[in-house]
Amino acid sequence: MNLIEKLRHLDVPGPTITSVTKPFWEGVASGEFLIQKCGECDKNVFYPRTHCPHCWSNRLEWTPASGKARLKTYSVVHHPGHPGWQDVAPYPLGIIELEEGPSMLTQLLVDSPEDLKMGDALHVKFVEVNEIWRPFFERDSSRD
Ligand SMILES: [Zn+2]
Repeated sequence: MNLIEKLRHLDVPGPTITSVTKPFWEGVASGEFLIQKCGECDKNVFYPRTHCPHCWSNRLEWTPASGKARLKTYSVVHHPGHPGWQDVAPYPLGIIELEEGPSMLTQLLVDSPEDLKMGDALHVKFVEVNEIWRPFFERDSSRD
């Protein structure tokens, strides 16, 4: 079983979907990676919020993002916080910089975490895990 197949078969909880995050998860379920853009200061915002962290405006609007990112740093998880993830451990969790600017914490889909390098080009990959579509990121060799 490859990594994607293993992910599809995991019995893991969450995410907790709130009224603030619901548009993001609906986007993921329909294959769109949405972030928020501030209608006041024009900055891009992620994770989902009610107010812009730059100017405190509540004029945040959902907009499609490219799904492209670069690796800032990562750590390899050997002992997941929930035992349901153990079947894919060890796995790398990365902090990535989205092409639109904001950073995001995400699980990276790579066979050999030791080959990851800061600045690696990544793109989003949606995988349905326990009946919920979730965003992961994988290497984008076309942008090396
Ligand atoms: Zn703003």
